[in-house]
Amino acid sequence: MIFSQVTQAPADPILGLTEAFKADARSGKVNLGVGIYKDEAGETPVLRSVKQAEARLLEQEKTKNYLGIDGVQAYNQAVLELLFGKGSELIAQNRAQASQAPGGTGALRIASEFVMSNTQSRTIWVSNPTWANHQNVFETAGLQVKEYTYYRAEDHGMDFDAMMADLATAEQGDLVLLHGCCHNPTGIDPTIEQWQQIGELCRDKGLVPLFDFAYQGFGAGIEEDAQGLRIVAAMVPEMLVASSFSKNFGLYNERIGAVTVVAADTETKDKAFSQVKRTIRASYSNPPAHGALIVSTILGDETLRAEWEAELTEMRERIAEMRTLFVDSLAAAGVTQDFSFISTQNGMFSFSGLNKDQVARLKDEFGVYIVGSGRISVAGMTKSNMPVICKAIAAVL
Ligand code: PLP
Repeated sequence: MIFSQVTQAPADPILGLTEAFKADARSGKVNLGVGIYKDEAGETPVLRSVKQAEARLLEQEKTKNYLGIDGVQAYNQAVLELLFGKGSELIAQNRAQASQAPGGTGALRIASEFVMSNTQSRTIWVSNPTWANHQNVFETAGLQVKEYTYYRAEDHGMDFDAMMADLATAEQGDLVLLHGCCHNPTGIDPTIEQWQQIGELCRDKGLVPLFDFAYQGFGAGIEEDAQGLRIVAAMVPEMLVASSFSKNFGLYNERIGAVTVVAADTETKDKAFSQVKRTIRASYSNPPAHGALIVSTILGDETLRAEWEAELTEMRERIAEMRTLFVDSLAAAGVTQDFSFISTQNGMFSFSGLNKDQVARLKDEFGVYIVGSGRISVAGMTKSNMPVICKAIAAVL
């Protein structure tokens, strides 16, 4: 017998919270833990554009034959255009190639294993703080994780100088994990000038950016949110991108993402991509089709794409509205502490500055669930749960 040697794994910090939430019998409970978009009714419905694409697929799909190792080709092409822009130089130069992957997480894992198996690089730098699963994914693939400073608690802002100073100590060939937009968990993104400096540093020191791009369209817009990535891509010879369409297409359980390789020239890119495919073959052989077919159907059809863009705008604007309402409602609940920084952050999350004890009290006394780091999913707020949330926060401050 060997399983008796196995020890209990700790609960996942975010998904474990959802389990605790589900088990909570209180009627007024609110889950602001996991990063899932909710509409004004507190639901996460299938997007209209997705439903229409699915109806077409149901009618037109002729086979469930295996896909190639890298998945749906029209999807992979659409991913490149979302990342680098239609008519981008990088695409024209044939220096970039995307492979369908099972979600952003799957893409991060493939990218890590590709690096471990085919290069000398062993270190990845991640922001402090970062998405709770990054360290887990990278370390499981065998990479050593180092942290660069990102957040300054005193003014709830970005400590860009400290970030650059930390990355200046990185070694040539080290990977640098960068959040393409809507930094998770802080909601604070670099400015255009700062992206430029990040690109220069990566280029000058020979660091390899690994962009985690899970929220395109949730910040300022589809094109706007890709600006940082495009600035850096224009400056460095090689990089990797892990895309996720879980949030911006609401395709959470379809597990649809992509891993993209950018190399100095086509020949190097082709070799690297062949090894990405080998990595995939050894882990799940080839991907499921449905999510990729939905995305490529929508992006390849003018009407469906317009519908999707409108839905994405709706989601983005509702979150922005909730940010403002949150700040106002906290003040109305008698909170004197300045929370105005929340209205300038991007994407689904806000880093509230609430400490572990306050987070525990929110859960135990008020049934309001947020992540231990103080990260709040603004996308889970609605006009109707806002008073409960703000009253609870006012009570624990
Ligand atoms: N990267 C970041 C920064 C995320 O916030 C998330 C999801 O929360 C992911 C990756 C994973 O996305 P997926 O669900 O597509 O694996």
